[in-house]
Amino acid sequence: MLLSVVDRDRLSLAGRGIEEKRERGIDLSRPDGVKSTERRYAPQEKGVFEMRDDNCIFCKIIAGEIPSRTIYEDDDFKVILDAGPASRGHALILPKEHAADLFALPDETAAKVLPLAKKVAAHMVEVLGCDGINVLQNNGEAAGQTVHHFHVHLIPRYENEQNKSLLTWGQADISDEEMDEIM
Ligand code: AMP
Ligand code: ZN
Repeated sequence: MLLSVVDRDRLSLAGRGIEEKRERGIDLSRPDGVKSTERRYAPQEKGVFEMRDDNCIFCKIIAGEIPSRTIYEDDDFKVILDAGPASRGHALILPKEHAADLFALPDETAAKVLPLAKKVAAHMVEVLGCDGINVLQNNGEAAGQTVHHFHVHLIPRYENEQNKSLLTWGQADISDEEMDEIM
């Protein structure tokens, strides 16, 4: 069942709407022809959780089996510099316990992520003198996730940086009818 773990009364987008549309026989195809109900991205359900994945590069970094530039560490997290940085100081927050993505991340860990992002980001402003910071987190290959161990990107931004179009996007062509349809 779609979205069975959330409180549907509080979630207007998609969940209830899709059920109603299905009951009313409304076409649920996406613009690319794939049925909305055919979930292509199949994240792990909450509660399915491993301490470590032996094939995971970030688990190896956390275990110290692969070198990294660690800028912060506590019982739950390691924060490292991204090896392919988008900007000077680009860092990754890695929970020490393996979780493939946001869906697999225990709530307890998730609750600690943003306070840590805030702490590291404040330190970045002080130490790097950056003018802004993007906080980014990708889930699924369609969203650009390449390492399937949950992580948060902290990307310092500089007024005079060359790559000004980094993390900007053009507006998608979605009609008002489509907007209403997904509600
Ligand atoms: P994502 O595309 O959100 O999954 O981001 C994965 C990030 O991990 C990319 O920005 C990579 O540059 C970075 N990365 C991959 N391997 C390493 C590594 N060994 N050390 C540090 N960063 C890495
Ligand atoms: Zn891992």
